[in-house]
Amino acid sequence: MPENFKNFIAGEWVAPRTGAYFENRNPADSDDVIGCFPRSGPDDVTRAVASAQRGFAQWSRTPAPIRGEVLHRVGDLLVQRKEDIARAMTREMGKVLAETRGDVQEGIDTAHYAHTEGRRNKWAMSFRRPIGVAGLITPFNFPLAIPTWKMFPALLCGNAVLFKPAEDVPHTAHLLVEILLEAGLPPEVVQLVHGEGSVVGKAMVEHPEVPVVSFTGSTETGSIIGATCGRMHKRLSLEMGGKNAMIVMDDADLDLALDGVLWGAFGTTGQRCTATSRLIVHERVHDRLVTLLCDRAERMRLGPGLDAKTDVGPLINEDARKKVEYYVGVGRDEGAQVLTGGGRPAAKGLERGWFYQPTVLAGVRAGMRVEQEEIFGPVLSVIKVGSLDEAVRVNNDVKYGLSSSLYTRDVNAAFRAMGELDTGITYVNAPTIGAEAHLPFGGVKQTGNGHREGGWEVYDFYSETKVVYVDFSGKLQRAQIDTET
Ligand code: NAD
Repeated sequence: MPENFKNFIAGEWVAPRTGAYFENRNPADSDDVIGCFPRSGPDDVTRAVASAQRGFAQWSRTPAPIRGEVLHRVGDLLVQRKEDIARAMTREMGKVLAETRGDVQEGIDTAHYAHTEGRRNKWAMSFRRPIGVAGLITPFNFPLAIPTWKMFPALLCGNAVLFKPAEDVPHTAHLLVEILLEAGLPPEVVQLVHGEGSVVGKAMVEHPEVPVVSFTGSTETGSIIGATCGRMHKRLSLEMGGKNAMIVMDDADLDLALDGVLWGAFGTTGQRCTATSRLIVHERVHDRLVTLLCDRAERMRLGPGLDAKTDVGPLINEDARKKVEYYVGVGRDEGAQVLTGGGRPAAKGLERGWFYQPTVLAGVRAGMRVEQEEIFGPVLSVIKVGSLDEAVRVNNDVKYGLSSSLYTRDVNAAFRAMGELDTGITYVNAPTIGAEAHLPFGGVKQTGNGHREGGWEVYDFYSETKVVYVDFSGKLQRAQIDTET
């Protein structure tokens, strides 16, 4: 005779009030009756609910770690009885043993996971608090955008800001602060202090009441600021130099790559942190692309930025032009050929500005100074390679890691390179430059220190996470102590 199984109600194994049963048979063998199970009625349900209400009152007051321990023991018992249960399940339900074993394993995993969840044994929440006065030090090349990347999230988080713009762009900073005040920002929430980095910037970084510093500028200045902030235990975001490369493979759309490299290398007169300063080209398309590039670069119109016909404006100041001239000389000495540019423009009317011709250096080899060091001007070094692997190696073999770009039609190559190019940003079929407000922006290696601007990441930087525990058990719940003792 098959066994009559029972309900479990109010702490006991009991027969159904109805006295009725149904058979449970093996779906693989209808002669195999596993047992007879209660055909229960509403009365059984009512009794079960009444008991469960008492159970709830007791269990909900049992501390979560104790509840978790019971579930842990459940998991352990399932481990012990895994094979028996799997076999019983297969007999009743029909699926193969490997599947019923997997079914039990899921129960084991769920029990053990529930156990660890039980360690969350206090009512708790976390929220973000502002930090204090944020010191913001910015470069010349994005006089409005970069200050806003720092200032707006810092303000949103509830910090006050102390802003020191680069010496070359104080007027845009002034206009920005006027707008903040006009918009209703309480006047003491923003402070604008103009002056030299080595005086004003240094004093901000060294001030003990400026606990958070965000800097964008050269790696040299960032290192000085980093040393001070490290010594003073300040929170610091660094966005620094770059030596960004565009890789053009032999299957690339060359017209697209040509437009991209002109824009990437000579836009903002090469003074973007993400500017394309290296062009790494596959040998099969090298000569064609370089010829087209020089032709277009020669035709770019230099002039004042306010003139609508101008393609390339001046460098920021005399020192910046001297630096470009110095590096073009270094490139020549290293054996690079100046295919186009390489000097000041002769055109009348440009002699009073810091203009420099868009310059293409060809025959550059990996390791040359013009290939390794940031020039920050309209100078593009072209390096010929034989494969994508070599291109990635050349791209990565510099101390910076801000942006990279790959032109190819091969989707597999593109996805591989996305992982292998050692930069914070990679573009596929677009030049190295650009940023979007909703995406994290920043670089690896000596370009940054692990923080990002933009996206939600920047809100992490300008706030402290606070956790609050509320214990309403009325008893001391001893933390960090073995509950067995
Ligand atoms: P910079 O380092 O000369 O100056 C940046 C700022 O730091 C300026 O406001 C300057 O006054 C200040 N400063 C200088 N010395 C200081 C000191 N000792 N203590 C505190 N502050 C000091 O840079 P720059 O010439 O204005 O800008 C160009 C550099 O910025 C390039 O290297 C470029 O790659 C980099 N940059 C990087 C990013 C990025 O997001 N990674 C963006 C834009 C520019």
